[in-house]
Amino acid sequence: MATLFKELAELCESLEKLTERIPKISMISAFLRKLHKEEIAPATRLIIGKIFPDWSSYTLDVSWGTIVKIIQDITRASPRELLDAFNRTGDPGAMVEILMKSKKILRQATLFEEPLTILNVYQTLESIAKIKGSGSRERKEAVIKSLLSRASPIEAKYLVKVILGEMRHGVSEGLMEEAIAKAADVSLELVERAHMFLGDIGEVAYIALVEGAKGLEKVSLQLFRPLKPMLAQQAENVQEALKEHGGRSAFEYKFDGARVQIHMKESEVKIFSRRLTDVTKSLPDVVELVRRELRAREVVVEGEVIAIGENGKPLPFQHLMRRFRRIRDIYRMVREIPVKLYLFDILYLDGELLIDKPYVERREILAKIAGNIPLTPRVITDDPKEAEKFLEKAIREGHEGLMAKKLDSKYTPGIRGKLWLKIKPVLTTLDLVIVAAEWGYGRRKNWLSDYYLAARDEKTGEFLIVGKTFKGLTDEEFEEMTKRLLNLKIGEKGRVVYVQPKIVVEVAFNEIQKSPKYKSGYALRFARIIKIRDDKGPEEANTIQEIEELYKKQFLAKAKKEKL
Ligand code: AMP
Repeated sequence: MATLFKELAELCESLEKLTERIPKISMISAFLRKLHKEEIAPATRLIIGKIFPDWSSYTLDVSWGTIVKIIQDITRASPRELLDAFNRTGDPGAMVEILMKSKKILRQATLFEEPLTILNVYQTLESIAKIKGSGSRERKEAVIKSLLSRASPIEAKYLVKVILGEMRHGVSEGLMEEAIAKAADVSLELVERAHMFLGDIGEVAYIALVEGAKGLEKVSLQLFRPLKPMLAQQAENVQEALKEHGGRSAFEYKFDGARVQIHMKESEVKIFSRRLTDVTKSLPDVVELVRRELRAREVVVEGEVIAIGENGKPLPFQHLMRRFRRIRDIYRMVREIPVKLYLFDILYLDGELLIDKPYVERREILAKIAGNIPLTPRVITDDPKEAEKFLEKAIREGHEGLMAKKLDSKYTPGIRGKLWLKIKPVLTTLDLVIVAAEWGYGRRKNWLSDYYLAARDEKTGEFLIVGKTFKGLTDEEFEEMTKRLLNLKIGEKGRVVYVQPKIVVEVAFNEIQKSPKYKSGYALRFARIIKIRDDKGPEEANTIQEIEELYKKQFLAKAKKEKL
């Protein structure tokens, strides 16, 4: 018999109540073991709340507004009741559960309706992603409505969480990897490795449980499936980077652009963003360039795309983001915002995986196949003065700073380690998530222009407010931000509009203070937005734990100064 969706919802409910990792892992692995073959991949994806892999061209594109409308339709709840339910839980899924329990639900189902199964739910969600073209919004709405009206309150709770991608039960991909390893009785390393190459936790679970270690061992890099990018930690200055890298390091310009991972097989090219989404359509000029220049049949390279102004100088990141957000008129944008590609790594070439080769060797191979595409400017040195000069030059030319790369380092996908260190001489900034916004006054009265900024609590996954700002955006950006926030609206109270935590902004500030005003216990003094980080997802925002660390550092630095 097919496994019911209710069982998956109950599993998630139990997971939400557990705080310890080990019992969570055991519970998931026991669940996975009971599933039928064809249910393994869908169930794994549903538990994680990621229905399609990042690189997939499928997306649900169902906004919170649409869900609210459907819930109002089925439960006949008033806007007031909706907001009350939301305020009681602070969670969209839990809100829906409360309303479904307390209201008389207008069921479309008959007495003979079959209960929802995991496969039903997954296939229905897939079918929603396939709806395209005119009237697609209404058609999607109809499908979700019929799904939700067949659901019990607890099923509806998790359907909504899955649809919005906000599970909040503390099951990260890392924890899921451990659960898969336990369920299939294979090593965690094998599971992690397969996940790194496939980028689809569902497929990994299937191979692990059905084919075991032998199946996992056969998995390798596949063209047109992006690897998670290797990330960098921050270093205070070039001296720290040199020390960390054993006295000698490669310093490259750090461009203020968008990272791209380019896959090419003969004339077929696909470009993925740092978040692994397929951005090929936004960059037809880059596609053409790599097709023409790269001296390889099959290759995966990485680089940074930057926008160029009329004077040939780099333009702020925001301009580039306009290129990525645009769906229509791409060719006009290509003319309006010319971009330049700099390459800095190579991961695969003509059948050979290169990620385990040392950095210097990869860079040599890259130089040989790059044609006329420039590589990131670089010096290799053990002299802090030379590195410092290079940093000054990068800043003078309008770039962000330097990246120090350890000479013998492997390419470690998805890991933010010390093998790469970024050196930005500018002030410390935090990446925070907008969770609410207030309507402005006077000239700004039609804009949501005052933003509540939140950091992620690593332990609970909750977003906790650490400050508020109305500074940093241009008129055009306020206007666009207002539209985007209204699309993410969860509720409203007085002047404040609450939104799903999706939009990440980079925020500068003067000081972190302890404050009873917010639940987080911290408040930023003079916060101002310096960049909208559409290249980052909310899960990549800074955490409360990091803010705590910064606060301590700042406290020590202050104490030192006062002693002097
Ligand atoms: P951050 O986003 O601040 O963590 O910095 C890491 C990002 O810097 C990478 O994801 C790249 O998009 C970007 N970057 C710019 N120049 C380089 C470079 N030379 N090497 C690696 N990454 C670079």
